[in-house]
Amino acid sequence: MDRLAIVVPCYNEEEVLDITVPALDEVLNRMIAGQKIAENSFVLLVNDGSKDKTWEIIERHHKENKHVCGLKLAGNVGHQYALTAGLITVKDMCDMAVSIDADLQDDVGAIEEMVDKFHEGKDIVYGVRNKRTTDSFFKRTTAEGYYKFLDKMGVKTIYNHADFRLMSARALKQFSNYEEVNLYLRGLIPLLGYETDCVYYERHERAAGESHYPLKKMLALAWNGVTSFSVKPINMITSLGVFLCFLSVLAGIYAFVSYFTGHVTPGWTSLILSIWFIGGIQLIAIGIVGQYIGKIYTEVKHRPRYNIDTLLTHDDVA
Ligand code: UDP
Ligand code: MG
Repeated sequence: MDRLAIVVPCYNEEEVLDITVPALDEVLNRMIAGQKIAENSFVLLVNDGSKDKTWEIIERHHKENKHVCGLKLAGNVGHQYALTAGLITVKDMCDMAVSIDADLQDDVGAIEEMVDKFHEGKDIVYGVRNKRTTDSFFKRTTAEGYYKFLDKMGVKTIYNHADFRLMSARALKQFSNYEEVNLYLRGLIPLLGYETDCVYYERHERAAGESHYPLKKMLALAWNGVTSFSVKPINMITSLGVFLCFLSVLAGIYAFVSYFTGHVTPGWTSLILSIWFIGGIQLIAIGIVGQYIGKIYTEVKHRPRYNIDTLLTHDDVA
């Protein structure tokens, strides 16, 4: 029988864990009873350096429930790394792993469908939201616009898929070979190849607690998605430079013609405007190139992406 691991990154989730753990446990029990997954399948709660009682709650559930394991990271590293830590930890302990957020916004009922697709031979199954009715108008339009923008930039992602997905053990092993520090999982996982499929679900409101993704973090993730997978912005700067050179040739011809026909204007306005304009373009260009250099800098240091403090498992799992 195939063993399933459900990986849940948790950062300051004390309010919601007592709802989440029983919900996931129920999903496991139902599938174990239906002989879809092995008895020793488990949930791995990854504590991402929470400042509240999250770890104590995880320890308690671990003691009470043989399906619950815990992984304590040494500090807060952020959602993408916490998830990576969990996935890499379980890669040799399971046949497939599902990643899901702690707040139950993603439909736990879709997990069984994912497992069914796994049994049909799929290595990666993406959870895709069919509606965004629970998101605010702002979040919905910016998110959808962003996916389209990414596509234009040449980054392949699954439309309306966040980090709710199933991966087989061999996909996880391949994933662990991608050692980049600037992580954007939604862009990276499709690069693995393999046979994939999607299951559709409706996204709910958070079961309890508050979002830890303020606008600033969302923008940072969005920017990472572009610059970690695409060098198109640099190409665009180059094209823009060529275009501006062409324009300046036209402007030069215009200036000469004006000079010889005697229509010499004071020219101060156009001069000052172009200085500001070109200056601005140059700064943006240097800035974008600088962003990529910054990434090279963080990659070459090759620092570990997370540090593990404690791993709590049960005898039949490890
Ligand atoms: N999370 C994390 N580390 C962080 C921030 C968030 O592990 O530094 C986890 C969080 O506990 C949750 C998931 O990432 O399980 C998604 O976060 P959240 O629900 O706050 O984001 P949203 O769904 O609002 O985008
Ligand atoms: Mg959430």
